[in-house]
Amino acid sequence: MKAFEWAEATTISEAVQLLKSAPAGNDVDEAARPIAGGQDLLTTMKDYTSRPSRVVNLKRIRGLDGIQGNAKAGLTIGALVTLTQLEEHPVVRASFPGLAEAAHSIATPQIRNLGTVGGNLCQRPRCWYFRLEEVICLKKGGSECYAANGENKYNAIFGGGPSYIVHPSDLAPMLVALGASVSVVGAEGKRVIPLDKFFTLPAEGSIRRENVLRNDDIITHIQVPASPVAARSTYLKFKERESMDFALASVAAVVELGPNKTVARAGLVLGGVAPIPWRASSAEKFLTGKTLSTEVLAEAAKLALEGAQPLEKNAYKVPLTQTLVRRALAKAGQA
Ligand SMILES: Cc1cc2nc3c(=O)[nH]c(=O)nc-3n(C[C@H](O)[C@H](O)[C@H](O)COP(=O)(O)OP(=O)(O)OC[C@H]3O[C@@H](n4cnc5c(N)ncnc54)[C@H](O)[C@@H]3O)c2cc1C
Repeated sequence: MKAFEWAEATTISEAVQLLKSAPAGNDVDEAARPIAGGQDLLTTMKDYTSRPSRVVNLKRIRGLDGIQGNAKAGLTIGALVTLTQLEEHPVVRASFPGLAEAAHSIATPQIRNLGTVGGNLCQRPRCWYFRLEEVICLKKGGSECYAANGENKYNAIFGGGPSYIVHPSDLAPMLVALGASVSVVGAEGKRVIPLDKFFTLPAEGSIRRENVLRNDDIITHIQVPASPVAARSTYLKFKERESMDFALASVAAVVELGPNKTVARAGLVLGGVAPIPWRASSAEKFLTGKTLSTEVLAEAAKLALEGAQPLEKNAYKVPLTQTLVRRALAKAGQA
């Protein structure tokens, strides 16, 4: 691990100043980083994926914790809320069950006790080429995505190129499906970013980053809007191991039923298949006005995976995700 300076912040503005004033280094991965639970940042520092000159502790800042609100008003979730607090919160469990399920699906109880919502959304990709200290891949400033023609079993089938990472967060697809946004404070002030505009594809933003945050930006809160559909939400995740593991594929589904049990609105976002939470827009549109029959579920699953471009070793993700789509829609439609 590269030597770094540890800085304590007690206010948001102090944290932003500490991030902004740190020596930037010659590379994006040498910029100062905020630390919350440390469950991802410390790992990336140990393998030199990130080499910050300064690490700014957010945990002493007041006002970044707690979950406020209810089903009617929507939720405001502090960035420092732990994954355990999220999954155990009674309002989240009762009125936003998909969010509680997504939080519960993450890692182990020990990691969920420390990992925070803000850190979960900003964690770095898990592609093993990216995480391997000796490999300087495209995302680390190199010239090649080794997954493109290499061991790509876990990589993207949508939105890949020139890098084929998948987004690792389980909260992200569910929060996108629920229409959530993040409040961010940086040196240039405060802004609110809809979560479906927060994550960036490798071909769009900087290939070295996964979201629109600048080096001195801090997520302070996550807002989940009030919605009659929130209660009919679910998160299904397929893992290779029954114990802790990242998603090979996952599906966040939200279903609002109208008259005669027809779908008034559906939210369908896929995880583990693309560098960002992948919205299945054509399936969402198709579902509107339909009743969730076996045929409709099958067609929605087909549409959700339309346009997938599997790499040599991950074509299995297509039928796997289709199955999860069918099951998630059926479950959310019955809630
Ligand atoms: C063994 C293991 C298994 C895991 N399995 C899963 C899994 O199945 N699903 C899943 O989703 N995750 C999984 N994770 C990842 C884990 O959930 C995240 O590492 C954790 O949620 C990160 O939260 P943290 O508070 O510890 O973040 P930190 O490690 O403190 O930070 C992570 C990143 O976010 C940035 N950051 C933190 N807080 C903020 C903020 N408020 N504003 C801006 N930037 C911020 C940091 O600078 C850093 O870049 C796993 C991790 C491990 C170690």
